[in-house]
Amino acid sequence: MNNFHHKKSLGQHFLKDKNIIRKIVNIAGVQENEQVWEIGPGKGILTEELLNRNCKLTCFEIDDNLYPIIEERFSDRINLIKQDILKADWQKFFSKEKIKIVANLPYQITSPFLFKVVENADKFSKVVVMIQKEVAQRINAKVGTKDYGVLTLKMQFYFNVSYEFTVKPHLFYPPPKVDSAVISLTPRVDKPVIEDEKYFWRIVEISFRNRRKMLRRNLREIISKEKIVKLNESGHIDLSRRGETLNEKEFIILYETIK
Ligand code: SAM
Repeated sequence: MNNFHHKKSLGQHFLKDKNIIRKIVNIAGVQENEQVWEIGPGKGILTEELLNRNCKLTCFEIDDNLYPIIEERFSDRINLIKQDILKADWQKFFSKEKIKIVANLPYQITSPFLFKVVENADKFSKVVVMIQKEVAQRINAKVGTKDYGVLTLKMQFYFNVSYEFTVKPHLFYPPPKVDSAVISLTPRVDKPVIEDEKYFWRIVEISFRNRRKMLRRNLREIISKEKIVKLNESGHIDLSRRGETLNEKEFIILYETIK
């Protein structure tokens, strides 16, 4: 186990501190018999604490050098899926019960992983993950700040986001170059109802395409000059504003007006 060669390419920074582990599992509020997914059990420090709570645990791990270690430690107590979480067919693992995700995520998959979570948001009761601090700040950003963007809007559209705490590099082995943070995501009960979500997100993405440009300029990519003039005259949203100054409600107004 000590000879294990860490793979940077797989984001292998293993947590050393059991207090942090307990804090993460407490925030997730893991209950007996609850369905939990852990992404990347590594050598199992978080896995062990999750099993202490007697949950039904499914772990996804991509690195075949780790399987013998995990199997030796947890044998038949977990459902180990030897697959890349981004390539796995999540539908196969869903049941009627909602699932909690608790993980110290490999950082290079953070965004694609979270977008996949968003696509299946109704299947999860809570998501508690360790990610890079910088990404956590973007997810938790306030309107008008430099961190505010498509990722912020998307995550906050589906989830109530909470920035829980920051974790310093020395608490991992090997230490990462940047600070990390734990965030929790709880599905919103007041999620806005939008007829054409795909088109809504297209408008949001285009509004941020060039952050320095006014909405009027960015939107020209999807709507005609004439429509822009009409939109401006409607007075609903001032198109000389920049995308980063619009909150969720205002983006919804923009979408309704364009539609
Ligand atoms: N949970 C352990 C801990 O906290 O010490 C390890 C966390 S480490 C940051 C990330 C883990 O995810 C590693 O075990 C790595 O092999 C695994 N991993 C990396 N990419 C993955 C992927 N696409 N699918 C599943 N597991 C992955």
